[in-house]
Amino acid sequence: MNYIVLDLEWNQCPQGKSRENPRIPFEIVEIGAIKLNEKKEEIDTFHELIHPLVYHRMHFRTREVIHLDEKVLARARTFSPVVRDFLAWCGEDAKFVTWGTLDLTELQRNMAYYRIKNPLPMPLFYCDLQKMYSLLYDDGKSRRSLEDAVDEMQIPRTRAFHRAFDDTYYTAEIMRRMDLTEVGRYESMDYYRLPQTKEQEVFRDFGTYLKYVSRVFPDKEAALADRTVSSMRCPKCSLPVFRRVRWFSAGGSIYLALAQCPRHGLIKGKIRLKKAPGGGVFVVKTIKEADEASVEMIKEKKEAVKIRRKERRHRRPSGRSAGDRMEG
Ligand SMILES: [Zn+2]
Repeated sequence: MNYIVLDLEWNQCPQGKSRENPRIPFEIVEIGAIKLNEKKEEIDTFHELIHPLVYHRMHFRTREVIHLDEKVLARARTFSPVVRDFLAWCGEDAKFVTWGTLDLTELQRNMAYYRIKNPLPMPLFYCDLQKMYSLLYDDGKSRRSLEDAVDEMQIPRTRAFHRAFDDTYYTAEIMRRMDLTEVGRYESMDYYRLPQTKEQEVFRDFGTYLKYVSRVFPDKEAALADRTVSSMRCPKCSLPVFRRVRWFSAGGSIYLALAQCPRHGLIKGKIRLKKAPGGGVFVVKTIKEADEASVEMIKEKKEAVKIRRKERRHRRPSGRSAGDRMEG
């Protein structure tokens, strides 16, 4: 197994979002990657600029951030040959490492736009080093910029930032200094290609919590009515659990629930409804043990929802949301 530390730079429509091509909102103009062996030693590098075919002029932000101009890119090869070489270079047994969640999605979106066969595994698990950094040194939720992490780790700033190859250099340097024994298992799943059938749905046991990624549903109502989506089981023993607080909408696209395992105590469920890139919605559900604080938090949120709902009923008697209908 090799690690592929990957960073991409992309451009967007210079005339703004209203004029963009929705099939390729971000056009990749640079691929940088470093191949590391299992001991995190560098064994090879890949770096190439890409001649854009969709947005010929740079968006002012792209120009500001990555300092690439049209003249330089005009001499580069186009995306298709570059990405074919890149995928071949990655090899079969590659584990992608990125700083953040965007690169693999945009890589695949660009590949789909140019009708390049996607050889990446499905589901695609990868190492979001930015998340692991947060799990290791922070609260596990906040996200550091690459520059801040470089400073915190006292890595000498010998290169520029925001160029694909320099950013992969820094990402690899950070990775070498991190102890991944504990947090390395918390891999992320890329959501560009999603399960389309029930058989393809993803269940992953991370030890401290369970994660489930559903297939794509036509809409929110269909997703929330699905029994696998609403089911709860104990992350430790898989025993059936008693419902304590049924799924309720906690605002936005978040739903919460509380249940009790006869052996292991209280567990909490969290559902995030997400828009699928190709239309429709999918569900990411996590189930983990609940401590006192999170039990209180869930009960308080539930109360707040009840109160809000009462107020709403006074104003609009017919108001009814999908959250009301959801049964556990
Ligand atoms: Zn249990």
